[in-house]
Amino acid sequence: MPLAPVLFALALMVGLESQALPVPVDRGPATEKAVAFTVNVVWGTEHVLPIARAFHDRHQKATFMLGGLWAKNHVSEVRSLQAMGMEIGSHGYSHRHVGSLDMAGNLEEIDRAQEAIKGASGTTPTLYAPAYGELSPTVLKAATGRHLTVVMWSIDTIDWRPWHTPDIIRSRVLGRLTPGAFILIHPTDRTAEAIGPLLDALSERGFRATTVSDLLAKGPSSSLKTRPSSRKLDQVEYVAIASRRFL
Ligand SMILES: [Zn+2]
Repeated sequence: MPLAPVLFALALMVGLESQALPVPVDRGPATEKAVAFTVNVVWGTEHVLPIARAFHDRHQKATFMLGGLWAKNHVSEVRSLQAMGMEIGSHGYSHRHVGSLDMAGNLEEIDRAQEAIKGASGTTPTLYAPAYGELSPTVLKAATGRHLTVVMWSIDTIDWRPWHTPDIIRSRVLGRLTPGAFILIHPTDRTAEAIGPLLDALSERGFRATTVSDLLAKGPSSSLKTRPSSRKLDQVEYVAIASRRFL
């Protein structure tokens, strides 16, 4: 059998394979002064509703990415989030390192979370924030197989670091602020303290805070898609992205 056509076919298959990989979204379109906070929730329960209230009191919204196990154990909090108009997404079921899991493991994390969050909220999430921000072709394929949009971030407050004071959290956001930004936060005591004044500072700059879905409805966007080097996302790039390991 001639080798060249076989190699060509293989290259084509590999090429098609990498092009078929879904691209995570990490920001909305830059068409208006709006941002979306994503709140990853698997701990910090006592700070979840105070943070939601800071948004609600100012007629703003956020997207809460809930761990399935957390949602199952905190149904009344989930209902309160919904009552305040917050969007609910999935942060997987039990916060495992999904980048190291195979397809079956990834699907299990996704499916159990969908079931638990639907049980608590009555709705099935369409957004998925992988635990630790870990990405791999398997993570993305598993999510896409379940019709979920994988959500990353364009501004990280790194608010889980004990030394990140409310001032640091605030200046990280304001210093990196762009229209359409997705801003990653967690329910920490410092974030609970920072969020109200931060939303006021955003308002002063003409920015409103809304949900991820609200921004994506105006046209999905991703820095990963527009970087020339990422036209074909490959394993190397996913590893590079996944090395930004956060909670
Ligand atoms: Zn997390």
